Amino acid sequence: MTIVTLFMVTENIIATENNSFNYSVDRFADIEIIRYQVPGFDNLPLQQKELIYFLSEASHVGRDILFDQNCKWNLSIRRSLEAIFENYKGNKKIADYIAFEEYLKLVWYNNGIHHDYSSDKILPNFKESFFVEQINNINSSQLPLSKGQSKTDFLKTILPIIFNPTILPKRVNQAEGEDLVTTSANNYYDGVSQAEAEEFYSKMKDSTDNTPISYGLNSRLIKENGIIVEKVWKVGGMYSTAIEKIIYWLEKAVSVAENPQQKLAIEKLISFYKTGNLKEYDEYSVLWVKDLDSNVDFVNGFTESYGDPLGLKGSWEANVNFTNVEATKRTKLISDNAQWFENHSPVDPRFKKEVVKGVSAKVITVAALGGDCYPSTPIGINLPNSNWIRRDHGSKSVTIENITEAYDKASLGNGFLDEFVWSDEERNRMKKYGFQTDNLHTDLHECLGHGSGKLLSDTDPDALKAYGSPMEEARADLFALYYMGDSKIVELGLLPNDEAYKAEYYKYVMNGLLTQLTRIKPGRSIEQAHMRNRSLIARWLLEKGNAQNVIELKIRDGKTFVVINDYVKMRELIGQLLAEVQRIKSEGDWNSAKEMIETYAVKVDATLHNEILLRYSKLNIAPFRGFVNPVMNPLLNVNGKIVDIQITYNEGYSEQMLRYSKSYNTLPAINK
Ligand code: ZN
Repeated sequence: MTIVTLFMVTENIIATENNSFNYSVDRFADIEIIRYQVPGFDNLPLQQKELIYFLSEASHVGRDILFDQNCKWNLSIRRSLEAIFENYKGNKKIADYIAFEEYLKLVWYNNGIHHDYSSDKILPNFKESFFVEQINNINSSQLPLSKGQSKTDFLKTILPIIFNPTILPKRVNQAEGEDLVTTSANNYYDGVSQAEAEEFYSKMKDSTDNTPISYGLNSRLIKENGIIVEKVWKVGGMYSTAIEKIIYWLEKAVSVAENPQQKLAIEKLISFYKTGNLKEYDEYSVLWVKDLDSNVDFVNGFTESYGDPLGLKGSWEANVNFTNVEATKRTKLISDNAQWFENHSPVDPRFKKEVVKGVSAKVITVAALGGDCYPSTPIGINLPNSNWIRRDHGSKSVTIENITEAYDKASLGNGFLDEFVWSDEERNRMKKYGFQTDNLHTDLHECLGHGSGKLLSDTDPDALKAYGSPMEEARADLFALYYMGDSKIVELGLLPNDEAYKAEYYKYVMNGLLTQLTRIKPGRSIEQAHMRNRSLIARWLLEKGNAQNVIELKIRDGKTFVVINDYVKMRELIGQLLAEVQRIKSEGDWNSAKEMIETYAVKVDATLHNEILLRYSKLNIAPFRGFVNPVMNPLLNVNGKIVDIQITYNEGYSEQMLRYSKSYNTLPAINK
């Protein structure tokens, strides 16, 4: 339930003083790579610096796991490309080489050969013959050949996977009516159909257990000699060599843990990685969610299931961070009032939580990103995902402010607001309040939105199936939007006046109706859960709001704009939609979820889409962004003891990716 970066990417707003820090790192295809600062790191005590360093290493050594999870050919392809990149002696100005380098950068960015967002296969713009020639120039020992495999055989396998658009075209297929498992290119299943996988896991499910295990989270499901079995990701199982490295660094982290609770949590995670027992994973999650006193915190494991069309398999991700004390005062205020917000929400009382538990919230400074959080990262995180743990023990919710700050600073003056915002009135409001309202929206979404509401006692948590993710995100966003316009927020001092929230309302609808279309290719529909949720909300509001003169689309000089005529009524509509989305979730009303998603969240108006793409292309802004990590250097004394950890910010994108591929080369090219 992490929320994704890209909402923020283009909506950068504040004008701050010039900062000599160089945010921009690289630019290719539709992506810009930037860097983030880690303010406050230098002032941490040595023990916490060491803890951050060890956890950072634990977050880098799992990188290969994600590549392999995304598609079983990813590591072979990445390593072939890297070998070409490092051995290439020819002219770097020829079209084939330029396209080759862009493709490699895309494979790094997407942790594989499919786009992170759309999940479509990335098609190279260089010739197949160029690739073949380069491979033939390289010594076999530098290529990811399997034992006894010739270059010719290797090419025969790999070429169609790279170049043929009909082979493995989508990493996650969500097209209704198709076998979602066999048509998805991810590496979570092999030889099993969707029906077989669903049957396998529904048999495991014990509907009487009120602390149900997240079956399937840490394994690949395959058919072996006609029998369906799980290949568990653990020491001695699949991904063992990478997991052993993760454990090595986690054990070092245990030695410098801040307190007994944190120590217990890390030890339990190690134990889970050893046994692969999901019961232990839940025990770890409970220990982790209860560790609220530590300054340093982390995510490390099989976490989000967006990459599996059945929503079961956890992609490996990592994040290391420490508390931003000043900003955390803001989120504490929100969580201290969580019950008030729940009580006053416009949803049916039957679907409200009588007691909102443990909504902990803090603002963090991230120090390392890994796995599915790298190089593209969420700006907020709310974990754990297990419903019963959230119900009984609460969840931890964080906003990553040094990342949002990097987004904002890196996009000053790019012309975006001038192009897409209706008038100076809205623009000035966004410039004045945008950074503040962005952060507040994230806080409310994570601290309150995901934790709000409850299912009826007989509702299956998975009842909404593939529609579950966008509906959950819609619920969280609506909860946030609804309260941003509440006088309680001004009363608590979270916004300066009852004008500021309008900046977020305008931006949200503009994004959902217009500007998020910049991230979709012509002719395609909306696939990604967060984009679906934004489209759902914005289009529903437009449809209802248009009839009441609340929101409309206006054309000026052939350009489409959002115009909001009545913010107070708009908020009422948000409340109505929130009530309906919560009802659908609480009752597990799959038919209504389907109707809502298919009506408002999937289809794209082709004419409008083309217009937006054209206007956007003239601005020359990268619609996607990713980050390089800072480099951490331990300083040792003569006895080899760490005396300090220094952070530097001058590593380039290709440089970092190549270094990671070498230093954190933890898996064979093909894993079974
Ligand atoms: Zn979310």
